[in-house]
Amino acid sequence: MAMIKAKNPAEQEFHQAVQEVAESLIPFIEENPKYKHARILERIAEPERVIIFCVPWLDDLGGVQINRGFRIEMSSSIGPYKGGLRFHPTVNLGILKFLAFEQVFKNSLTTLPMGGGKGGSDFDPKGKSDNEVMRFCQSFMTELCRHIGPDTDVPAGDIGVGGREIGFLFGQYKRIRNEFTGVLTGKGIGWGGSLIRPEATGYGAVYFAEEMLQTKGDSLKGKTCIVSGSGNVAQFTTEKINQLGGKVVTLSDSTGFIHDPDGIDDEKLAYVIDLKNNRRGRIKEYADKYRCQYHDGERPWSIRGDAAFPSATENEINEEDARKLIGNGCKVISEGANMPSTPEAIEVYLKHKILYGPGKAANAGGVAVSGLEMTQNSMRLPWTRQEVDSRLHTIMKSIHETCVKFGTEKDGFVNYVIGANIGGFVKVADAMLAQGLV
Ligand code: NDP
Repeated sequence: MAMIKAKNPAEQEFHQAVQEVAESLIPFIEENPKYKHARILERIAEPERVIIFCVPWLDDLGGVQINRGFRIEMSSSIGPYKGGLRFHPTVNLGILKFLAFEQVFKNSLTTLPMGGGKGGSDFDPKGKSDNEVMRFCQSFMTELCRHIGPDTDVPAGDIGVGGREIGFLFGQYKRIRNEFTGVLTGKGIGWGGSLIRPEATGYGAVYFAEEMLQTKGDSLKGKTCIVSGSGNVAQFTTEKINQLGGKVVTLSDSTGFIHDPDGIDDEKLAYVIDLKNNRRGRIKEYADKYRCQYHDGERPWSIRGDAAFPSATENEINEEDARKLIGNGCKVISEGANMPSTPEAIEVYLKHKILYGPGKAANAGGVAVSGLEMTQNSMRLPWTRQEVDSRLHTIMKSIHETCVKFGTEKDGFVNYVIGANIGGFVKVADAMLAQGLV
């Protein structure tokens, strides 16, 4: 860690992600000296390539705006670099390196041949017109297109990058390269996208929670669920929980959260989807419409619930929040977001031995269906909704089995953190050993 901190100064989130993985892996590596001698862990923590570029664009008033673009190509040991693009004002090198690092393990867990990467920009799509977002995306892709390709590096969406942005990015790639390929995932259904891709991360996080609960002979049916966020992951987490007979009572955005004790049923969810995806409004409007409580500037972890699905952003649950959740009877946490729990919060979960599915396992459904989108693009044949959903379900079960295999402790407790970290590591590490020092 001293080396990581010295080489990557001021990248706190990256240090946090590497530390968590190192703590799980070092005892395993000690038992398997081949990985130690080849310094595999140190090599995985060093990006294969980092690209930083200027993104100039014109706003609607003709003013010149300048943002910074990034692509972190972390590991290509088991497949082309694969991971989303995030457009948010907080984006910086350290955050993208943490996300790219996590992505390597996550992609390996999916069973599909995908390496790890991540990218994005400090551009804030909030408050921008569609034309401004288009001009930004075109400028961003004008530079990025020379570094990516369907067999090289395949970006997707993340915070701030949904169907609209993927469309503009894909259009510009196609125009410059004169090729219609699966260079991005999360595409529209009519032009190379996969059914179930928008739903995949949320559905997957719920399938993972069901798998964890099944180990205790339990299920989500009748459970009260706390969900944070109100974007892509939160929306489809809510939809799947409703389908399985659970009740979602909270949603949030960066300004606060709503608490609807009656539950956010499908009709209310349709309102949220329109509010967030089309009207691009604030979650507070839900409380005004459905006459429930809105908590300004707060997160939902003080609300009583049996299950929690953090689906907004990193470090959104601290130690105190974790204690509140468990004190209120929460038995299962399935992370739709990436690294939403601080290390102190994770310690609380593990101490209380609750069912805790870390993001790199629980939210791998999104990239898994991205992998299936790549497969369909290569075959030039689309699969049905049922086919993709059934493959997603099978993949989430397999990730759960891998976690159980590598994470079961002597007393039978499944430590999903250790299980996911070792399970994700082995395939990448063995590929690195086989391929030599490349
Ligand atoms: P969206 O942009 O669709 O939604 C993000 C949601 O989180 C919004 O409600 C947003 O509020 C809220 N949010 C963002 N930043 C903050 C913040 N700093 N504090 C509080 N709330 C915040 O993104 P996604 O739903 O796609 O992503 C959510 C999480 O899931 C991220 O951690 C992402 O990395 C992870 N993830 C996403 C995958 C995917 O397939 N989309 C795959 C795997 C993981 P507001 O509207 O105010 O911005």
